[in-house]
Amino acid sequence: MIVGKPYLISEITKCTPTVTSFKFKAEDGTSIDFVPGMFAMVEYRNEGTGERISRAFSIANAPPSSTLEFLISLIHGKFTSKLDTAKVNDRYYISAPYGQFKFDVNNKDKLLFLAGGTGIAPFMSMIKHIEGIKAETNCKVIYSVKFPDEIIQKEELERFKQDLDIETIVTVTRPKEGDGWTGEKGHVDATMIQKYVPDFKDRVSYICGPPAFVKALKAALVGLGVDEKEIKAEMWGE
Ligand SMILES: Cc1cc2nc3c(=O)[nH]c(=O)nc-3n(C[C@H](O)[C@H](O)[C@H](O)COP(=O)(O)OP(=O)(O)OC[C@H]3O[C@@H](n4cnc5c(N)ncnc54)[C@H](O)[C@@H]3O)c2cc1C
Repeated sequence: MIVGKPYLISEITKCTPTVTSFKFKAEDGTSIDFVPGMFAMVEYRNEGTGERISRAFSIANAPPSSTLEFLISLIHGKFTSKLDTAKVNDRYYISAPYGQFKFDVNNKDKLLFLAGGTGIAPFMSMIKHIEGIKAETNCKVIYSVKFPDEIIQKEELERFKQDLDIETIVTVTRPKEGDGWTGEKGHVDATMIQKYVPDFKDRVSYICGPPAFVKALKAALVGLGVDEKEIKAEMWGE
């Protein structure tokens, strides 16, 4: 059994109608180090009933830190329904870091990030790390959301474009009449990658999102001649 350390919720911020940012601060104030892209196991415990549920969440802030931020889609499942009613100062137990979806700091000059939905979370950690270490990274992000109001941390993404050499192209897969969306529409595919990132072959590619998204884009990149070894991927949800 994984035994986590106690953390208290320090901030809850609604990002979109379905996704909320939760910040957890280590009760003992100690920092943990991790490689951007890695995830944590977050455990809910009810001391009264003995109920325990834990789930994996990608860390969305830069290392090292005594606070961990997660961007969580509140789907009212077993774990996320606990978060529906969570309050600042609630105690959860967190163990970290885990995973092989790791940002390679030695290969950070030209990157392509492909994100679907909450799959933007590990990229937030990577980008904030790039900012923190002042790396001269040229990074293109193609970010797929169903609806325009589902863009997570939109202002941050716009700031990265202003302050860093990191541009995000958002594509909306379910545009609706009257939603005001004038940007890119439709699923990310080989044509979209070639359109916005013509030098994709010179980049290390990272993909994160639902399984269908990750599988399709891995196949698209390989179909375009990208070496599979240059592609890192993480998937969850449906
Ligand atoms: C490495 C890793 C990193 C992850 N990082 C994140 C993250 O940053 N943010 C995040 O929100 N989630 C993330 N997840 C998913 C998370 O661990 C949970 O699976 C998710 O929060 C649902 O848990 P639940 O107990 O509420 O739902 P459950 O009770 O386990 O599931 C309820 C139902 O919802 C379906 N379901 C599960 N996930 C989704 C989903 N995302 N969308 C729609 N339906 C779903 C299940 O198939 C099931 O039918 C990550 C998973 C992994 C493995």
